[in-house]
Amino acid sequence: MSTVFPSTHPLVAHKLALLRDKNTEPKKFRELIREISILLTYEATSDLILYQINLETPLATTSGKVLTEKIGLVPILRAGLGMVEGVWNLMPSAEVWHIGLYRDELTLKPVAYYNKLPIEPTVSVCLILDPMLATGGSAVATVDILKRWGVRKIKFVGILAAPQGIENLQNHHPDVPIHLAGIDESLNQRGYILPGLGDAGDRQFGTG
Ligand code: URA
Repeated sequence: MSTVFPSTHPLVAHKLALLRDKNTEPKKFRELIREISILLTYEATSDLILYQINLETPLATTSGKVLTEKIGLVPILRAGLGMVEGVWNLMPSAEVWHIGLYRDELTLKPVAYYNKLPIEPTVSVCLILDPMLATGGSAVATVDILKRWGVRKIKFVGILAAPQGIENLQNHHPDVPIHLAGIDESLNQRGYILPGLGDAGDRQFGTG
């Protein structure tokens, strides 16, 4: 069974085209990241577990279904930050746990520089938020961290991926579904996705 879910929704495709455009200004770029993240999260959360409750409408007694699982949003710093707000509005009781990683220049392996997870897990489902799945190194390291923390249900929500990043994440963590707006052709020598959208952090924060 495939664990990669590129969205086929026309709204996602439309917004992705605007996001790629080099003339899209940071304000619009941030709005698009926010909107695409909401649409992808809607798709990524379609299997969340519900339980039935009884309730009263103004007219009658009835039943409804509410979420049982405690959800954690895990943005990878810094580009993942722009994906949080919209998703958090959809699930306001989610916890947000930031993870910061840098690449060690000697080993080329990701090293965590920010991780404030408590010893015991406080959530049962984690959505990793990172717009770009390039080499997959940060995604693999973040899933490693979350599994060590004790979370078993983990999903990756990103905007664009290179085939190398998907392969790397699937090889290390075949149980983690990958939700994307699009899958691109390749990586360049500097690790940027082609055709891509450039540096997702710089374009959000106006630092490019
Ligand atoms: N990170 C980015 O911001 N862009 C890429 O293309 C790859 C990694």
